Amino acid sequence: MNSLYEQSPATHPRIGVLAIQGDYSAHAQALTESGAEAIEIRKPEELANADALILPGGESTTMLKFLERGNFLNALKEFAAQKPVFGTCAGAILIAREVRHPAQVSLGLLDAVVERNAYGRQIDSSILTAPTELGPELLEMVFIRAPRIVETGPEVEILARRDGFPVLVRQGRILAATFHPELSADRRVHQYFVDTVTNSKL
Ligand code: GLN
Repeated sequence: MNSLYEQSPATHPRIGVLAIQGDYSAHAQALTESGAEAIEIRKPEELANADALILPGGESTTMLKFLERGNFLNALKEFAAQKPVFGTCAGAILIAREVRHPAQVSLGLLDAVVERNAYGRQIDSSILTAPTELGPELLEMVFIRAPRIVETGPEVEILARRDGFPVLVRQGRILAATFHPELSADRRVHQYFVDTVTNSKL
């Protein structure tokens, strides 16, 4: 820990965004607007600089190809054993216990089964406004070729649903959204993650 950190231990957590592919810069912007410092992560060793990590939306298969090289997957597992991780859309697929349609390797950080591209071609992208556990106001949710969380374990808390299926879930310090909160103006989801990170550092 450097001295700058010691001066403000909990106010500005430094949150990494996996910057291999996908909409990582929108996440970095959302984090900055939520009172965190955002850093881009492209190599496993850069994880050491982060208090938490966001795995963004994009194409999980493409991200996996990159992560399967250079021990990156193991580095992520080790990181998540101690620090908060938030996966959105493709990122949620990467952190699930099991992936279907088709099956692919995943990190197993979240006790959930996820089905990729579950909403079919015709409605592959949509915007929904729905209630959540994050406050009384409805939340805008942007879905883009979204996965569906079809099973969750007993420790998974459901913070929002679409058609009865969970779309925002939390398991301890692991958070997952099947939509793209970084693409809406409402910052409650990022704020919630930043608060989780801040509290986990106390
Ligand atoms: N369909 C993508 C996948 O399976 C996820 C889409 C997204 O992240 N917006 O990886």
